[in-house]
Amino acid sequence: MKLEELGEFGLIEKIRKGLPKSDDFLGIGDDCAVIPCGDKELLVSVDTLVEDVHFLKNTDPYLLGRKSLSVNLSDVAAMAGVPKWAFLSLSLDKDRNISWVDLFLKGFLDVTKEFNVFLLGGDTTSSEVLTVSVTIIGENKKGSSIKRSGAKVGDLVAVTGKIGCSFAGFSALKNGLKGNDKFKLAHLNPYPKIMEALSIKEYVTAMIDVSDGLIQDCSHICEESGVGIRLYWERIPFCYADFVSKEEMLCGGEDYELVVCFDRRFEEKVKELDGFNIIGEVVEGSNVSVLKDGENVELNNCGFKHF
Ligand code: ADP
Ligand code: MG
Repeated sequence: MKLEELGEFGLIEKIRKGLPKSDDFLGIGDDCAVIPCGDKELLVSVDTLVEDVHFLKNTDPYLLGRKSLSVNLSDVAAMAGVPKWAFLSLSLDKDRNISWVDLFLKGFLDVTKEFNVFLLGGDTTSSEVLTVSVTIIGENKKGSSIKRSGAKVGDLVAVTGKIGCSFAGFSALKNGLKGNDKFKLAHLNPYPKIMEALSIKEYVTAMIDVSDGLIQDCSHICEESGVGIRLYWERIPFCYADFVSKEEMLCGGEDYELVVCFDRRFEEKVKELDGFNIIGEVVEGSNVSVLKDGENVELNNCGFKHF
């Protein structure tokens, strides 16, 4: 059998199944692993960006440096934690210009300063394919990290920001569309929603960041929580881009917005917060459905998968 048949998530499940279980820590299956540490817990996540898979050749090195760390910070945000320490692994070709490296590092280090994160180490290797891998360590009060697995039937579902701007920006870049800088920047320079996560933390039962597409990431909450999610098309804050369809925006990845599930008794409190839109509810079942004028929207082959 080839990996293509098993699929990315089939492979992760295969790795997960072979591991011993423990109640001492949270391993595979969430945005970060959770490791107890005194009266705190550490949040750890690693993310890799590969040229021609995650970013196009000739991507602005400053923005790539920023994005390399921002996507990791987004995983800490998804656990409602505070990011603290980072490790940076770089695989570069020997012909690469030092000015490229300087700009990349400036972008990366600017984000460390903006979020009070310290770069503590990493690794450097040669490679024909430019690859950046970042490990982030964050922190939380013991037992206070928000997991994918806590959603309950009856909860409401909310999302930060707009959905689909990154996909629109990626399409504009790939197809050489002029202008559309706002969308291109949504793709190249996502902003991790650390503050938003902390602002809603006390009401939340489950949370994930939108890295693979709104629908697919909601389905991860469904799998881990044993529930279904119903979204209402009219309530989804779609990006205002007219050259990609709304269906594509629901399935396209890398928005790095947050999807949160919360007890509906906090509906008014959540409405008072900045930046959240209520888009659906948690229901019995195991799938994500999207209703438009009461009808199910067909979404085929939805969400980013490596294979
Ligand atoms: P995210 O989109 O939030 O970065 P992923 O979809 O990459 O999350 O990963 C889902 C889960 O699977 C995470 O808990 C991650 O640590 C785990 N995982 C992914 N790849 C591997 C691997 N090769 N070995 C062990 N765990 C993995
Ligand atoms: Mg994530």
